[in-house]
Order: sequence, then C-alpha cells, then structure tokens
Amino acid sequence: MIESTSLTPIIGAQKISQAKKQIDNAQKIVIITHLSPDGDALGSSLALYHYLLNLGKEVKVVVPNSFPYFLKWMNGTKDIVVNTYIPNVAEAIIKNANLIFCLDFNILKRIGVLGDLVAQSTAEKILVDHHLSPDEVFDTVISYPHISSTSEIIFRLISQMGDFEKISPIIAECIYTGMMTDTGVFTFNSNDPEIFEIISLLIKKGIDRDQIYSNVFNNYSENRFRLLGFTLSQRMKTYPELRSALIYLSKEDQAQFPITKGDTEGFVNYPLSIKNIVFSVFIREDEDMVKVSLRSQGAFPCNEFAEDYFDGGGHLNASGGEFYGKIEDAITLFEKGLEEYADVLKQCE
Ligand code: 5GP
Ligand code: MN
Repeated sequence: MIESTSLTPIIGAQKISQAKKQIDNAQKIVIITHLSPDGDALGSSLALYHYLLNLGKEVKVVVPNSFPYFLKWMNGTKDIVVNTYIPNVAEAIIKNANLIFCLDFNILKRIGVLGDLVAQSTAEKILVDHHLSPDEVFDTVISYPHISSTSEIIFRLISQMGDFEKISPIIAECIYTGMMTDTGVFTFNSNDPEIFEIISLLIKKGIDRDQIYSNVFNNYSENRFRLLGFTLSQRMKTYPELRSALIYLSKEDQAQFPITKGDTEGFVNYPLSIKNIVFSVFIREDEDMVKVSLRSQGAFPCNEFAEDYFDGGGHLNASGGEFYGKIEDAITLFEKGLEEYADVLKQCE
C-alpha cells in the first residue's frame, strides 16, 4: 500500500528512489509536454510544477505550441513558456536546466523542434508517461501504458515518494483535470477501481469535480457547435460494412465558422456513438499539414492504423498522425487503409 492511501504502489521502489535523488540534486528543473497540449499534458505538467515549486525548486513548464482556451483557467497556465511565442526563452530554460521532466509523450518527435534541445542536453531526464515504446534517451523511465492518464501517474509518483500530504488543492485540481479529460470523463479506459479511489482522495483534498467539468466542457464557443453540426450533417461518411466512420474538414469548411485552437477537440468521438461503429477518424486540413485523429472501441488498434498510414501512433483506442499533401489524398489513403484492415474490422466485437 502507498502510505496514507490504499493504492497499489505500481512504480518500482528503485525508480522512486532514483527520481527522488534526481529531484533532490536539481535546482533548475524544466517540465516539457507534447505538441498541442491537451488536458492530461497540462494537468500532469502543472501538478508536477506546483509540487516542485512548493519544494523550493526553480521550475518552468515549456510547451512546444499553444494550448486551447478551455484549459486556460488552470492554475499556473500564465507561467507556461510557449515555444512558438518566445523560442529564445524556451531554449535558454532547457539549456540551463539540470533536470528535465518529459510528460505525456514517448518519443522526442512529439515535442517538435524542442526535441533536439532535449536530446543535446546533458541534464538528467525523467520520463513520466503512458504511451507504449518510449525512446531510449531518458535516464529514468516511469512509463505505464495500462494507466489511463499521465496525471494519475504523477499522483502516484508524488504519493509513492512519501509526499501525499504535499498534494495541495491546486495540485489535486490539475491531476483530476488530466484524469477526467484522458478518459472522456471516465467513459473509456476507466475500469480500474483505483481510479475512483484516487478521485475520492482528490475530493477529500478539496477539488470541486462539478466545477472542473464545467470549466473544461461548458466554455466552448458558439461557433464550435455550429461547426460540429455542419461536420456531422455534411462531412461525415460511414462505412457500415467496415464498422467505420470518417469526418473531414477542409480549410474552407473551417473558415465558414471561424474557430480557435481546440475548437474541434472531441469531434472524432461523436461517430463512435453510432450503433456498430467501432472506428472513427477525423481528417482536418491545418495551416501546414493535414492532421489525422483516430479513435476506436474495443480491440481495434487505431495506433497501428495511424502508424501504417499517417506516420503517427498513440494508444490502442486513441491515436493521431499527420499527412503532408491534399486532404483529398489523405481521405483516399484512409479508405485504402480501411480496405486493408477490412478483415480485422469485420471481426471486431
Ligand atoms: P488527438 O487525436 O487527441 O490529437 O491525439 C490522440 C492521441 O494520439 C494522443 O494522446 C497521442 O498519444 C497520439 N497522437 C496524436 N497525434 C500524434 C502524432 O502525430 N504522432 C504520434 N506518434 N502520436 C500522436
Ligand atoms: Mn495522456
């Protein structure tokens, strides 16, 4: 049992003592998370940020690019250094750090141009993550793909280091936000009973679950909903035989309902609510590339599909990738992939 809780200590004792030593020995610490940070990326990073600040460390969170407006309410977002806005500052922080925490990603490619800076740094590097197959550049690897969020692993890390008492209401709120968003408000990857033990502990720490839900999910712009309506009625194709659905948006489509970053978050999940659909893909034309988001239910490995066709990866049921070219060609490639995976899809429960 983890002291003060009834949780299983899933992080090995050696990793805990190694991480503790690395934190003790470091004064300048940087926390880095993945491109287009989501609720878990920011929740885990800010939870660790507040914990390390309270320990008296000089600590910064650096993110490769901006994050959606519905996460800006989180405590500490104003201190985050966004590389695309102030690259010189981000570079200096990474170069001066003697400990680098990498959160919620497995390979340096996921942090874009910051990857080279991390690779070149002589600082100690700790990975805390829940994706398969981590890079080999990390000194300490705290990676548990069966855990549904990095934020939960941060909770476990702090608790197993003996600092459960140091989890403040602010830290608890960040952790809960990441756990909530990475499980679709506990609707997938959420059958581990310990998730709910942790939630109970976080409530005792003082979080307001209803308020956190509302902060994230009841703050969208009107145009997001108009675009969502358009997408589902005009830009959705289903492939019932193959248990699959596609939604797609060109730049022109998006220009009809001016939206900001993050406004299409969650769109890809909607087709999974259609009876018998187990695989949903969202292909969106961005400024410099075509972004592909993939979701599945059950055993269908959408991360393998993302790897095979869109140079991507991720989790079994939630993955992403990229395509460089015309959106029409991305759709054609997706449909070719569907045919190649037809047997697997037809067998899905
Ligand atoms: P989303 O569809 O929300 O952007 O991403 C879902 C998940 O897919 C992420 O949590 C991440 O694990 C993975 N992912 C998204 N985009 C990429 C990508 O371009 N490359 C890889 N390797 N994984 C991605
Ligand atoms: Mn995550």
